[in-house]
Amino acid sequence: MKVPLLDLQAQYATIKDEVRAAVDSVFESQRFVLGTHVAALEGEIAKLCDAPYAVGVASGTDALLLSLKALGVGPGDSVVTVPFTFFATAGTIVNLGARPLFVDIERAGFEMDPESLASFFERECAFDKKTQRTIHKPSDTTVKAIVPVHLYGQCVNMDEILAIARRFSLPVVEDACQAIGATYKGRCAGALGDLGCFSFFPSKNLGGAGDGGMVITSDSRLAERVRLLRTHGSHPKYYHSIVGYNSRLDELQAAVLRVKLPHLAQWSKSRGENAARYNDDFKAAGLLSFITPPSILPDRSHIFHQYVIRCAKRDELQQWLKDAGIGTEIYYPVSLHEQECFRYLGYAAENLPESHAASKETLALPIYPELDDAQRRYVVDSIAAFYRDRVKGVRA
Ligand SMILES: *Cc1c(COP(=O)(O)O)cnc(C)c1O
Repeated sequence: MKVPLLDLQAQYATIKDEVRAAVDSVFESQRFVLGTHVAALEGEIAKLCDAPYAVGVASGTDALLLSLKALGVGPGDSVVTVPFTFFATAGTIVNLGARPLFVDIERAGFEMDPESLASFFERECAFDKKTQRTIHKPSDTTVKAIVPVHLYGQCVNMDEILAIARRFSLPVVEDACQAIGATYKGRCAGALGDLGCFSFFPSKNLGGAGDGGMVITSDSRLAERVRLLRTHGSHPKYYHSIVGYNSRLDELQAAVLRVKLPHLAQWSKSRGENAARYNDDFKAAGLLSFITPPSILPDRSHIFHQYVIRCAKRDELQQWLKDAGIGTEIYYPVSLHEQECFRYLGYAAENLPESHAASKETLALPIYPELDDAQRRYVVDSIAAFYRDRVKGVRA
């Protein structure tokens, strides 16, 4: 048996005719940039998230870049985020000429740890009442924003993050690229802070046929600014008061995404059902002393963009599963504070111990909606066989 990490062909088979008709409609219109599908999708995402404004952009990376740029992040500034995330979370900060400052994650949910955030401000920052700025003392930069990441499809502890942000008058940009449709206290990921960023990369829960992204906000001024930034800062056409980018959501992508959007809730629900079955299977197989399934934290729904376990002998297990024809992935094998390109920031691995540990202990298993019972059991049986091979007392 073969079980891929993600099977997009299985998904495509269920919506092929609709996707083809949507793509045809764009070709018939010959309107490829900022057409009716982009505007309609913006409205649909805004409605889904209960956010007043949504702006389609070229990728999740650009959603972050334009959001930070809209907040005025630039040289001499810094942005506080976590290192256990996809590269773009920090890469965009650096590409704006600013400095990423890392705080650690919580063990249970792999999300920004409010305690780590609070103690970071206490130890390293000072609020200057005169200029109303928060200065990061060691780097002598102005802290401009906080970027929590709703990793794997579950929200951070947003109330506590927002409370700390308010204390320092700092805006919060949510990296919700993995969490579209996830909720925190009944409200949607992306609509909890000042700006929320989504990615439509093909492997995300709502994935296009290429790159795409979106920014949502309840601040009309910020929405207008992101809208301006995605077309070179041009308004009216060919008049530029600011310098922007070429970062529009493609009309073809929007057309495909509009076909997929009505299925998103069901797909995410199926992922959640698969997750619950894995949890039961792992328990029944007596595997809980070797692996820790993901936990759903209080007040939150989880859309299981990834189903990530903590496990003993991670790299050996991954190889074992590969040999058994099972696709897995490590998200992410090197915490950003340990990346070569960020050596100049001066972090040691042990400065952010939970991020470091997560990079060494976690493994993502197949969780896509079309994963069937036989495939899931094969994954569980293969994991049980791995530990039985090495440790006595594991039942098959
Ligand atoms: C996917 C992702 C991004 C970047 O999105 P792209 O559309 O690939 O540019 C940013 N942050 C996180 C956490 C992601 O998972």
